[in-house]
Amino acid sequence: MKKPLMRIPYTGPLPPPTIIPGFANTPTGARHALTRFLSPQVLPNAHLSSVDKASTKTVLLTGAGISVASGLADYRGTGGTYTLNRTYRPIYYNEFTSNHEARKRYWARSFLGWTNLHKARPNVAHNAVKDLGKLGLVSSVITQKLHGYLRSLVCIHCHNQLPRSDFQNSLSSLNPQWATFLEEMLATGALNSENPGERKARGLKSNPDGDVDVPNAPYTTFRYPACPTCLASPPALADGTRASVEVDDDGAWSPTSNAGVLKPAVVMFGESIASDIRTAAERAIDKASRLLVVGSSLATYSAWRLVKRAKERHLPIGILNLGGVRGEESFYAGLETANEGELGVRCNESADQLLPEVVDNLRHY
Ligand SMILES: [Zn+2]
Repeated sequence: MKKPLMRIPYTGPLPPPTIIPGFANTPTGARHALTRFLSPQVLPNAHLSSVDKASTKTVLLTGAGISVASGLADYRGTGGTYTLNRTYRPIYYNEFTSNHEARKRYWARSFLGWTNLHKARPNVAHNAVKDLGKLGLVSSVITQKLHGYLRSLVCIHCHNQLPRSDFQNSLSSLNPQWATFLEEMLATGALNSENPGERKARGLKSNPDGDVDVPNAPYTTFRYPACPTCLASPPALADGTRASVEVDDDGAWSPTSNAGVLKPAVVMFGESIASDIRTAAERAIDKASRLLVVGSSLATYSAWRLVKRAKERHLPIGILNLGGVRGEESFYAGLETANEGELGVRCNESADQLLPEVVDNLRHY
């Protein structure tokens, strides 16, 4: 059997972007160029090949950068490296599914980090995306599921979903000492601050996926619940035998089990995207007349590949991201110099400042 390729996020430093068109290097210029890009009146028909020439629909591909203004740290700074903790490395899917100790550590840190993610609300950039939809300019939005779906969990065996709030309560009752520690941290305000320096001063390090690092914390004692569905009715394993799902007296998952493991309902690093989701994303690209990337450095292969697909289909590509984007120069190869944004745009601006202004422009275009 062919070994599946391990998907590793691109963590090398990325070169700064070349702004396209050249005048988009100021907020006003960027606003003009992005308005041209999204405007239904400027159709770069000559550059559309097999796609529907009558379509004026843009597909949006959004990343973690769109959530920065919601109080969630971005994964990468403008240099394309992890901004908060340079030694930080996200957990990989294989590690999570195969290693009980790794899961304890993941859930302990996530338990402490959840309170902040929970508070995060849609920001002006999210609202601008919604407005673009209302104006009929966006046909679909492909989100890289980093934040939104941290609000739920999925069982890796039976695929049932659970709300994160219930899970958080279970973690709390299974780990009373951690729950007390969390309350203390909340009381000192260490978790309220998004300022990494301030957090560090209070003994905390945090990472953008809601991961909080407690120095010397006894992760090994952390307990997490089993999937209630698998516990009530153990699923069949690949070899046809019935799985065994065991819990301790309080309901914590026991390492003698071979099923009933819950994971956050996000696509983890190293995890393949379900084929139906991938197909839906590809279909959205195939039906679109443009692709706009917002707040993503395309570090994950699946996101990068969608943009490559759009380029191969000769779609105009827009990128609104602070800092470099993986392989971006290839997305603008062969662009006409007369372009004012309608054939392609690259702005190095923050989405929460620029997008609402562009929406405003488009209302009166
Ligand atoms: Zn299950």
